[in-house]
Amino acid sequence: MRFLITAGPTREPIDPVRYISNRSSGKMGYAIAEAALEAGHDVVLISAPVPLEPPHNAKFVSVCTSDEMFGAVHRYADGSDVCVFCAAVADYKPATVSPLKIKKRTDKISLELIPTRDILRSLGDQRNRNFLLVGFAAETDHVAQNAEKKLREKNCDIIIANDARVAMESDENELLILFRDGETKKISRAPKKFLARELIKIFQNSQQKRLTKKM
Ligand code: C5P
Repeated sequence: MRFLITAGPTREPIDPVRYISNRSSGKMGYAIAEAALEAGHDVVLISAPVPLEPPHNAKFVSVCTSDEMFGAVHRYADGSDVCVFCAAVADYKPATVSPLKIKKRTDKISLELIPTRDILRSLGDQRNRNFLLVGFAAETDHVAQNAEKKLREKNCDIIIANDARVAMESDENELLILFRDGETKKISRAPKKFLARELIKIFQNSQQKRLTKKM
């Protein structure tokens, strides 16, 4: 199968030296890419900046902003069988980017933020897509309820929920997997590399089921 995987925290520029980002390490996305390659799949990994070595044998696409990630995802999605959105895409970006470094002042300043485009949702909205669509939900509260809402609103096949406080920057994670048909599956705390291998098996099965249903 052909996998498209996004990973890492996007950077939304404020001026030539500053940006807004988040604490995502990219480890889960990179582990999923490695596990997919290990299982014999083709992988396109679209990554925001992280200090990780890109997996050998993956097609690696380096991006910085949410807009760049949007463009790269839309270039590769149609040729994919499974799209996994692990990236921590910024929800907001500065309304304007200053071409010059903003000078320090003694009074308060404020930054106007506008929503970024939701990349996952833009694929969920596509009619007759052939690929399995998988999103992540990093939450700090009401994990299951928020993930359930995302599954519906973003029109995904699977949402993988995790507690951001457990997952961020860590080598371990624990997962609650929600399927479109209402099924759920928990995987208790384990190294991200182990979880990634379990997820690949789940994605393979789910995509095979989708294809069988379509025939
Ligand atoms: O809405 P929220 O950011 O919590 O959704 C998380 C999921 O949506 C993740 O799979 C993330 O990669 C994806 N996402 C996206 N584009 C955005 C925001 C989130 O693809 N602008």
